[in-house]
Amino acid sequence: MDFGIAGKWALVCGASKGLGYGCARALAGEGVNVVINARSAQPLREAAARIGGETGATVVAVACDITTEAGRAEALAACPQVDILVNNAGGPPPGDFRKFTRDDWIRAIDANMLTPIELIKATVDPMIARKFGRVVNITSSAVKAPIDILGLSNGARSGLTGFVAGLSRKTVAHNVTINNLLPGVFGTDRLQKTVEMQAQSAGISFDEALARRVATVPAGRLGNPEEFGQACAYLCSAQASYVTGQNFLIDGGAYPGTY
Ligand code: NAD
Repeated sequence: MDFGIAGKWALVCGASKGLGYGCARALAGEGVNVVINARSAQPLREAAARIGGETGATVVAVACDITTEAGRAEALAACPQVDILVNNAGGPPPGDFRKFTRDDWIRAIDANMLTPIELIKATVDPMIARKFGRVVNITSSAVKAPIDILGLSNGARSGLTGFVAGLSRKTVAHNVTINNLLPGVFGTDRLQKTVEMQAQSAGISFDEALARRVATVPAGRLGNPEEFGQACAYLCSAQASYVTGQNFLIDGGAYPGTY
């Protein structure tokens, strides 16, 4: 299927690896020009070269911290126009809520709630004026099924989800949609760190902790960033103009509820 977005411009945040990379790669595969962002310049440059080499798309790399005002300004300035915005940044650290300080909470809210909201604020009105816009926020399955040690994530991402639920109904009449993609267990560096912590706290090996995580997934495997990116590309497609305000789980069936 031709997704009808070739030639558009996308800003994909947190995209040197993992799920953000998967989204940038899939969009570039659809002929979208992408500005990708991450904090470290070298891996980001390598990611841009790989995506550009594989797809022929224009890929611009902007190394900056997207959770800062200066970083957001730099990333936005590198994108001639933002037709597609993929919001992503590292997730907050796991831990016992009793040990989280106010600063920990502010950092989590900044990264996983206020940064996406600021980027939406900066781009949504021009999208409305052009009568095309797609915003995809990478959140977490923890929004629907909270994970005990990820209290910072559960809290901050729920704030973003609530905000998006309201705004997405205002923009859709202008062909500007806003949706959230909720990853379950994906084989990325982030997962590596979470599993290491679970292994440590349960006093078991990494392999055993990983096997226990996989055992909770009916698909019987970890998700991969490519399939995540393809779902993102669909949400950004011309065909998805009637889809807004949704929370899409991509979790191999792990969420146990009917709704
Ligand atoms: P990852 O660590 O593999 O990749 C994160 C990317 O974001 C990297 O490119 C990193 O450089 C970049 N990044 C981090 N902080 C940044 C910042 N401040 N500014 C700019 N770039 C930044 O992580 P991932 O597994 O791809 O996860 C992406 C998001 O999805 C995270 O918020 C994570 O918590 C969430 N998530 C992941 C899983 C999973 O199983 N992998 C599950 C649920 C939720």
